[in-house]
Amino acid sequence: MKKRLLILGAPGAGKGTQARNICELLDIPTFSTGAMLRSQMKAGTELGKKAKELIDRGELVPDSVISSLVGAELQSPRYREGFLADGYPRNLEQAHFLDQVLKNMGTHLDAVINLDVELEDVVGRLLKRAEIENRSDDTEPVIRRRLQVYKEQTEPLVRYYREAGLLINIDGNGSIDQVWDSIAAQLR
Ligand code: AMP
Repeated sequence: MKKRLLILGAPGAGKGTQARNICELLDIPTFSTGAMLRSQMKAGTELGKKAKELIDRGELVPDSVISSLVGAELQSPRYREGFLADGYPRNLEQAHFLDQVLKNMGTHLDAVINLDVELEDVVGRLLKRAEIENRSDDTEPVIRRRLQVYKEQTEPLVRYYREAGLLINIDGNGSIDQVWDSIAAQLR
């Protein structure tokens, strides 16, 4: 059974929802750098304050900060049987770092699920969500910046993991249930 997984996809591709489904199916915890940063922000740490400034502008938090969070967190016994990383890695440097950390732990990734969506559809979805949730990182210019950062920095990971033989590409343009059926069919 595949137990060390990543989920990739543009902001608004529905990663969060599908990540919850996958974790339930495989009985593994999520590993989310976004959640780690939000807990730093909530606790009001220096790291959290700096991260908030960047997040509110749609920028990535520096790799050095993310690596120190990830390096420590992955040692936790809760991920011993597996995990689904959601929102990590965000660029090639982070992907190389993750490969190294897992190698040092004597393990490796089993698969990378890519939710493949039309980027223009995603803008519409995100704007709608912004209206409903009133999120400070979801104004139109910030959404456009996050998509640009995704395209420049995160999308190259699709090719990286395809070449590593790990990629499971999923058509993410359907309904939540349709997308889930395609993912589940690949994991069972
Ligand atoms: P997320 O919940 O994964 O969408 O993360 C929210 C925000 O936190 C992102 O828009 C980034 O600004 C920041 N962030 C989360 N994970 C990372 C990461 N792996 N590298 C850099 N920045 C990150």
